[in-house]
Amino acid sequence: AHLDRIAAVDGSVHAFLATGETSALQAARDIDARRAAGEQLGELAGVPLAIKDVLVTTDMPSTSGSKILEGYRSPFDATAVAKARAAGLVAIGKTNMDEFAMGSSTENSAYGPTRNPWNFDRIPGGSGGGSAAAVAAFESPLALGSDTGGSIRQPAAMTGSVGLKPTYGGVSRYGAIALASSLDQIGPCARTVLDTAMLHDVIAGHDAHDSTSLDFAWPSMAAAAREGARDGSLTGLRVGVVKQLMVDGVQAGVKQRFAEAIDLLTAQGAEIVEIDAPHLEYAVAAYYLILPAEASSNLAKYDSVRFGLRVSPEGGGTVEDVMSATRAAGFGAEAKRRIILGTYALSAGYYDAYYGSAQKVRTLIQREFARAFEQVDVIASPTAPTTAWALGEHAGDPLQDYLNDATTIPANLAGIPGLSLPIGTAPEDGLPVGLQLLAPAFQDAQLYRSGAAIE
Ligand code: GLN
Repeated sequence: AHLDRIAAVDGSVHAFLATGETSALQAARDIDARRAAGEQLGELAGVPLAIKDVLVTTDMPSTSGSKILEGYRSPFDATAVAKARAAGLVAIGKTNMDEFAMGSSTENSAYGPTRNPWNFDRIPGGSGGGSAAAVAAFESPLALGSDTGGSIRQPAAMTGSVGLKPTYGGVSRYGAIALASSLDQIGPCARTVLDTAMLHDVIAGHDAHDSTSLDFAWPSMAAAAREGARDGSLTGLRVGVVKQLMVDGVQAGVKQRFAEAIDLLTAQGAEIVEIDAPHLEYAVAAYYLILPAEASSNLAKYDSVRFGLRVSPEGGGTVEDVMSATRAAGFGAEAKRRIILGTYALSAGYYDAYYGSAQKVRTLIQREFARAFEQVDVIASPTAPTTAWALGEHAGDPLQDYLNDATTIPANLAGIPGLSLPIGTAPEDGLPVGLQLLAPAFQDAQLYRSGAAIE
């Protein structure tokens, strides 16, 4: 049924870069046969799963939205994908994304933009616009994404879906094509808080292949979501509203829905506390130094030899000529911009001034969150300052995209978990608005509990 739905609507939405009809149907039949044979299977066995193309898969291409990985086939599955398959989930396709997850609109994909199912003239958010749109358009009930600066939460908000960035290290990054390794985190996306939690339970946990993955006995996220759905479940919960996350330029309808969400939290027993966190103002500036620095290093491996595309200059040339021609043709404008920025920020004589300073700001932000979480259990903010903008609206002005990340980026800098859930539509444009909830590291379950309480 989901493959039929994809065939019917994906020509308009373009959520998928590849689908795996044959392997999906085979996997579904295998699950049916095992069930018929009396095997006890997990709750999600047989449920379709869309996978952001940042995660490598053996049975489908993995491009990370880039031309430079065109034709690349991975010899192994990313751990999150392997865990999902082991739980019986059926991988139906790979979803569109901004190139190497650099972007907030999915317009930076080398394979054309994804459209917002709510309004085809609008962006679906990014970088994981494909995963969020696939879920919102009922092409898949569940999807995997990656969140380096908001790429699960912001597209979830813009498409009326639910998405969660786990605590850094909560889900293995093995087989996730790296953007900025100290910020990247894999996580789930779905249409309800409980569905998102169920997928989270499947992919979480320690992985010997990822040295940053946490060896921690995670509680059941699904159990927390079910608990939260009970009346009055937030009694005594302290919810912080951070002044600096109500950034300049928050759209009127976003403010309105956010105020209503705060009322809902209060009605469920939560107590609201105002928080001042002055260094959050510098989060965007710090992030857009740290991310390009790490990205320029991670993207150095696309050298025309080891992966994907190879372009030979006319009349031949040296190894360097081939590398240069391949990178010129294979990387898009945003990837090039960040490689140049990052290389500059890391270069001798500038390292301390840029990368070093940004890391100091990152520490200050981490401390500010630690202080805030002495006063509150959860922090609430709009997921993004605006609803989905029109395709092409930010063309040629990447700074507009960057500024839209002001609300999501702090969680990545601090390594803490963040949830986005839909809280209605903005009256002025009829487009979905997301509520972001943040919690201390390891407290992902608290987010599912709180989110389910007001869903
Ligand atoms: N919009 C952010 C960026 O462009 C988010 C990226 C992400 O989370 N992958 O860097």
